[in-house]
Amino acid sequence: MYDVIIVGAGPAGASAAIFLAKAGRSTLMFDNGLSVTRRALIKNHYGVPEITGPDLVDTGKDQAARLGTTIVKANVTNIRQDGEVFAVDTDQGTYEARHIILATGLYTDLVEHIGVRVKPGSEPRIKTVVDVTPEGKTSVPGIWAAGTVAGVSMHTIITAGDGAKVAINLLSELEGARHVDHDVFKPQQ
Ligand SMILES: Cc1cc2nc3c(=O)[nH]c(=O)nc-3n(C[C@H](O)[C@H](O)[C@H](O)COP(=O)(O)OP(=O)(O)OC[C@H]3O[C@@H](n4cnc5c(N)ncnc54)[C@H](O)[C@@H]3O)c2cc1C
Repeated sequence: MYDVIIVGAGPAGASAAIFLAKAGRSTLMFDNGLSVTRRALIKNHYGVPEITGPDLVDTGKDQAARLGTTIVKANVTNIRQDGEVFAVDTDQGTYEARHIILATGLYTDLVEHIGVRVKPGSEPRIKTVVDVTPEGKTSVPGIWAAGTVAGVSMHTIITAGDGAKVAINLLSELEGARHVDHDVFKPQQ
């Protein structure tokens, strides 16, 4: 049983995983290897002058793994709810968690299959997105969504930031106070 299962390890999912795992929450992230970010050459990500999509995605996954996220290459086919527990069916077996973050990018087949409320997308070429609250909650309590599938502007700085935002909001709910994750730089004298 995990605290959180994330579906999708692009910028949105991996960024959420970084915050959750760093906060000590057991975090499992699935990905089926279809990130659109792998097709990008990125020159507009704050603090990173230029990076290829594959390097950005692989670095983000490595960072999430180093902080404690378990990453499994698998296709998630269904999410079922049993009381306060979600059972996540994949082609590698079934896993359980108390909370779910959907970060499936362009892919809405899973979200439509499990019945979270969707709505028309507003970004170019994005037909359908998950209907989320400003915090990132879907119509199903316990299931959150982040990144392209949640309808934000399709840029890595935004989708990564949205994943972080959703993780911080989820952590804040669990902790009963706003979650803050600051490490302090101490310059040598
Ligand atoms: C050609 C191209 C160029 C681009 N150039 C730029 C650029 O220069 N600058 C910029 O800021 N942005 C650029 N972008 C946009 C950027 O890549 C995206 O906006 C953003 O990174 C998407 O992040 P995401 O995490 O929402 O989705 P993704 O990176 O697509 O990640 C979603 C992940 O979910 C996984 N997934 C989906 N369904 C399942 C399932 N059922 N089970 C398991 N895994 C699943 C997918 O395999 C994928 O890895 C470009 C995009 C393209 C296509």
